[in-house]
Amino acid sequence: MSALDVSIRAQVINLLEDLKGEFGLTLILVAHDLAVIRHTSDRIAVMYLGEIVELADRDALFDAPRHPYTRSLIAAIPVPVPGARAARTLLEGDPPSPAAPPSGCRFHTRCSHAEAICKSERPILRQLAPGHTAACHLAERLPPSPPASAVAAYSDAKRRRLALFAGAQPDIASRLPS
Ligand code: SF4
Repeated sequence: MSALDVSIRAQVINLLEDLKGEFGLTLILVAHDLAVIRHTSDRIAVMYLGEIVELADRDALFDAPRHPYTRSLIAAIPVPVPGARAARTLLEGDPPSPAAPPSGCRFHTRCSHAEAICKSERPILRQLAPGHTAACHLAERLPPSPPASAVAAYSDAKRRRLALFAGAQPDIASRLPS
């Protein structure tokens, strides 16, 4: 989707929704645009260095992300709120090579919460709430994630932009989340 302009993107999303409804399909969408992911997905798997680190329903993932990598992805979303960026912890550094991943938790070289256990023991996906799993040793001890209102504001702005291009496909506006 990233190479598509917003009007074509809206049409592709519309087509995917049509195909799901008409044929009862389950689609796996691989994407980097969190607004598109949030709009199109029922369940979301977040991957880091080739492994799933968090799996949850859409709203649970965006409203209460449990894995530090997921939190950093959501924190990186541009926020149209003055001063909001200062309250967020953004991810720094480059990802390691997938051919030679770090020991233990693959994310420990970039995680601001990492402890000794993270370097030696590989975390497995654990259920933290019904339908919500994450691979993090410290998930229960992490502070609450920042409020999702900023993300919602961004998504809403993007939704309105998509709706602007819905003239050629009038029914898409009614499908966009309110
Ligand atoms: S297991 Fe440790 S390094 Fe990995 S995400 Fe959790 S806190 Fe960070």
